[in-house]
Amino acid sequence: MSDPVYDLHCHSTCSDGRLSPTDLVNRAAQKGVTHLALTDHDTVMGVDEARIAAQASNLNLITGVEISVTWENKPLHMIGLNFDTSHSSISQLMNSQDLLRQERSQRIAHKLEKKGVKEPLAAALANANGGMISRPHFAQCLIDQGYAKDFESAFRGYLGAGKPAYVATQWVSMETAIENLTAAGGVAVIAHPRRYRLSHSWMRRLLEEFKAMGGVGVEVITGGGNQGDRDSMSLLAERYQLLGSVGSDFHTAENSWVELGRLKPLPASVEPIWSCFTA
Ligand code: AMP
Ligand code: MN
Ligand code: MN
Ligand code: MN
Repeated sequence: MSDPVYDLHCHSTCSDGRLSPTDLVNRAAQKGVTHLALTDHDTVMGVDEARIAAQASNLNLITGVEISVTWENKPLHMIGLNFDTSHSSISQLMNSQDLLRQERSQRIAHKLEKKGVKEPLAAALANANGGMISRPHFAQCLIDQGYAKDFESAFRGYLGAGKPAYVATQWVSMETAIENLTAAGGVAVIAHPRRYRLSHSWMRRLLEEFKAMGGVGVEVITGGGNQGDRDSMSLLAERYQLLGSVGSDFHTAENSWVELGRLKPLPASVEPIWSCFTA
C-alpha cells in the first residue's frame, strides 16, 4: 500500500467549481488522492453524489463544507469536516447561509445594474445552474458582457471588498458555526489563514479565540501557498495546539497552478487533522 494522499478542500458545480461532484471525485482519484473532502461554499448538496462516485473509485470521501463566517466584522472561511450532513444543526446552518446568499445576490445585482450590466441576477443564477450562488457567477456575467477580461479584473473592478458592487454581509458568527459543526460530530478548521492578510497580532488573536470556541484545526498546507506560509502556519499550529489540514482549494482544471492532490506533505511537527477522524 502506498501512502495516503489527502486533499480536504475543493469545489464542485454545487458552488463555484467547474466540475460536477462526480467529475471532481474522478479527477481526484486519477491524480492519486486517496482521501478527499468536497467543501462547497455553504452547501452540502454535492456530498451524496460525491459519495457514490467515491465508492466507485475506491476513494475515501470525508464530508465537508466551506462556511462563510464573520469574526470581528471580518469575513473569514471555515472548513467543516467529518460531520453528519443530515444533522439538524447542519440543515439549519445551510438554510440560513443560503438565505443570506440570496439576499446578497439581489443587492449585488442591484449595484451592477446601476453600472449598466444587463439582468445580472438572471445571468448569475443561470451560471450557478442550481448550485449555491456566489461572486464568481457574477464575475462570469461581467466577462460575458464585456465589463471585465477575466475573473481577477471582475473582482478588482466590481466585486472585491470596497469595489462598486461589493456587499458586506453579516455571515454566521464563527462561534455559532463551530458549535453547529461540533453538534453534528464534525470539526472546524480555519481555511487558508494567510489569505486574510491579518497582522501577527490579529492572527494570534484569531487562533486563540478559534481554539477557545472549540475550533480544532487550521490549514497548514493550501494550494498556492509558499514555503514561508507553510513554515509560519506550522509553528502557529503547534503553538495553539491546533491540528493541521491540507487542501488545494481546487475550483477548475483551467487553473494549472492549483491541482487536486499536488500538495506538500504536512511537516512531521504538526498533528494531522485526520488523526481525530474515526474510521
Ligand atoms: P463568495 O463566497 O460568493 O464571496 O465568493 C468567493 C469566491 O470567489 C472565492 O471562494 C473564490 O473562489 C472567488 N474569488 C475571490 N476573490 C477572487 C479573485 N480576486 N479572483 C478570482 N476569484 C476570486
Ligand atoms: Mn470559491
Ligand atoms: Mn475560501
Ligand atoms: Mn474554497
